[in-house]
Amino acid sequence: MNDLRPPGPPRAPVADLTEAERTRILAKTARFAPPPARTADGRTDLVGLSREELVAELDRIGEKPFRAKQLWHWIYHQGATDFARMSTIAKPLQAKLAEHFVVGRPEPAVVQTSTDETRKWLFRFRDGQEAETVYIPDRHEDRGAVCISSQVGCTLACRFCHTGTQSLVRNLGAAEIVGQFMAARDSYGEWPSPKGETPRLLSTIVLMGMGEPLYNYENVAKAMSIIMDNEGIALSRRRITLSTSGVVPMMDRCGEELGVNLAVSLHAVRDELRDEIVPLNRKYPIAELMAACRRYPAASNARRITFEYVMLKGINDSEADAKELVRLIAGLPAKVNLIPFNPWPGSPYETSTQAAIDRFSRIVMDAGFSSPVRTPRGRDILAACGQLKTESRRERASQS
Ligand code: SAH
Ligand code: SF4
Repeated sequence: MNDLRPPGPPRAPVADLTEAERTRILAKTARFAPPPARTADGRTDLVGLSREELVAELDRIGEKPFRAKQLWHWIYHQGATDFARMSTIAKPLQAKLAEHFVVGRPEPAVVQTSTDETRKWLFRFRDGQEAETVYIPDRHEDRGAVCISSQVGCTLACRFCHTGTQSLVRNLGAAEIVGQFMAARDSYGEWPSPKGETPRLLSTIVLMGMGEPLYNYENVAKAMSIIMDNEGIALSRRRITLSTSGVVPMMDRCGEELGVNLAVSLHAVRDELRDEIVPLNRKYPIAELMAACRRYPAASNARRITFEYVMLKGINDSEADAKELVRLIAGLPAKVNLIPFNPWPGSPYETSTQAAIDRFSRIVMDAGFSSPVRTPRGRDILAACGQLKTESRRERASQS
């Protein structure tokens, strides 16, 4: 097979995919841990707790485990935030619960709706940090996707991405991740949760907002397990897509434990270019990334891996790039999502021409892969892919 790469400096041999590397990633994640989900007056937020944790919280105030089931139904099926609304719970217990607990939501500090109906929330969390969430309604059917953030900022600094210009402030907690979806539902009056697979307006989740979800795996996994729980929101794993820039060691875990759909931010088909525009590639090069895709357990012809490819004029949009892309994904259950570059203030790239996008897409399609071009949505309110960013900053570490 022809290797089109020019000779360059030797690359790191193979990415470290051991358990030790996963432990290292998780330890780094912990340094950016969210604050405890508690109000200023000391009440615990019940949103974001696993069922076991909910039982333990109730036990702490002397209540039996079966109450957890009741509460779960009210919180995640009915969408109730007020204990007084929970009519299967006697009044004195409602009052006791309200003394110790809250059912929280992030505060919508700013809500903007685009001329194309896309809606963006700037959510403020209890410690004042902020992240954005976007709802993208389908233009033809009564359904749509909620694009959720997993971190405030991002460590990865991809060159074309606005979020990447904001350093990582902290990870979002499970309560904050689930809370984005629940608050979005509040605003469309989408409670109670539909039973089974009946689509509603907010019918799918894409983890494609701010941050790298696989660098906040534990919180993302907990949040998705809550959202998938059958007695609550009950969203199927088929309706959830996690997008990663290629944190290879965590992709395996994600596939085994969550089984959600996978999207991979590929954006370049040669290591030299990908090293530059997706710097994580220096750690986990294309060959490792593709190998992880090939063994991703939840992929099948019915549930293809999406390869996201941002179209940057004169950078990654040539015919040769398209052909190499086809070679890379050959034999995989894959589709390619071409994303015209969305500019942001000060961004260093231009969007590919329509002719270049069409040519690229044609080559991919002729090789048998679906290759839709993602229509930019919500550009007027900076809600499109790669345009999200907030003012949150990390406090300088104390000198002491
Ligand atoms: N951190 C994850 C999740 C973010 S998903 C990831 O990178 O996959 C957001 C998607 O939009 C990613 O594919 C990202 O690479 C892409 N993107 C980033 N900046 C963009 C821009 N300016 N225009 C179009 N797409 C962009
Ligand atoms: Fe982070 Fe994804 Fe943006 Fe890269 S594209 S900087 S990984 S949010």
